[in-house]
Amino acid sequence: MSAALIPPGTTIGIVGGGQLGRMLSIAAAQLGYRCAIFAPEPSGPAADVSARWVQGNYDDLDALQAFAQSVDLITYEFENIPVGPLEALRVPLAPHPRALATAQDRATEKAFVQAIGGRPAPWAVVSSREDLDAAVKLIGAPAILKTRRFGYDGKGQARLKTAADADEAWASLAWEPAVLEGFVEFEREFSILVVRGRDGTIATWDPVLNVHEDGILALSTVPAGLSDASVEAAKALAGKIVTELDYVGVLAIEFFDTDAGPVFNEMAPRVHNSGHWTIEGAVASQFENHIRAICGLPLGSTARAAPRVEMRNLIGEQASHWDLILSDPAAHLHLYGKGQARPGRKMGHVTKLFFD
Ligand code: AMP
Repeated sequence: MSAALIPPGTTIGIVGGGQLGRMLSIAAAQLGYRCAIFAPEPSGPAADVSARWVQGNYDDLDALQAFAQSVDLITYEFENIPVGPLEALRVPLAPHPRALATAQDRATEKAFVQAIGGRPAPWAVVSSREDLDAAVKLIGAPAILKTRRFGYDGKGQARLKTAADADEAWASLAWEPAVLEGFVEFEREFSILVVRGRDGTIATWDPVLNVHEDGILALSTVPAGLSDASVEAAKALAGKIVTELDYVGVLAIEFFDTDAGPVFNEMAPRVHNSGHWTIEGAVASQFENHIRAICGLPLGSTARAAPRVEMRNLIGEQASHWDLILSDPAAHLHLYGKGQARPGRKMGHVTKLFFD
């Protein structure tokens, strides 16, 4: 259902209650909105900063309907939620679930991006052992086998150094429907965040250079050091994606940068970890602009607030060094209020602006 202007003073429902919901709630509060959270857990990072927490499963249509009746607009901060129940809601919802449906399936996503002129790595659908043999023949090795659905942070992936690894690779993915992707010899990985307003206005933040450790984002730096041609190609594809999906809100796209230009990796129809730098590093953050967009307000400027910005994730025990981090008066520390610092768990992040 499309929405008229959702004015400040009303309540935004957020499906998902993690750190992204927390930062969305903070941005919404600044603009005078209240947020209510719907999530399966009893509590989470968004609970401390939102007006209400409703515990319910993402596929529980009755619980979602009841939640929807209590808010003025619904958005989501997590992409692995079933699309059906969201589509059945009779309340304004943004972004449209068609973006979720596209991004939830790697094959659908790649086909969509290819159809609008984007360039993913060579890929093939793998639904059977014969498909896998055919895909290896077509694409060659090394290659990466990825589950079509529910992969994140490098999970649901197996590398094939040679064709002989095929059996082991697919078994490690529990023989789930998959895609085989050619291995991209990239120079660097980068992402671009784009926002589209209800009136169709599109704005992008500067592309971000991303460094991953153990498959998890560790460091994001802006500017990303890309060629002008790569920046233009990424921005153009971002604009096409949000236009084609009639998307409202913030969307993130991850790329591999190569000599021949950017190769599309994947997209997330939501605010994204690689956009956390925008909280202090841009005039309007990804969170603020997501709220502005879905509520029908004018977008804020995506211009950079400093010549260089760096965002480091605090993974696991790294967050316990908050006192050391705060000894640098220029450091902007964000802790997500998660209890236990398990290895690989994103506990917070720290952003620094550089003016020299
Ligand atoms: P993903 O979950 O698809 O973002 O993949 C996690 C990480 O694996 C990426 O950030 C890359 O470092 C690496 N990776 C994924 N796909 C490819 C590929 N086709 N070629 C080379 N590296 C890849």
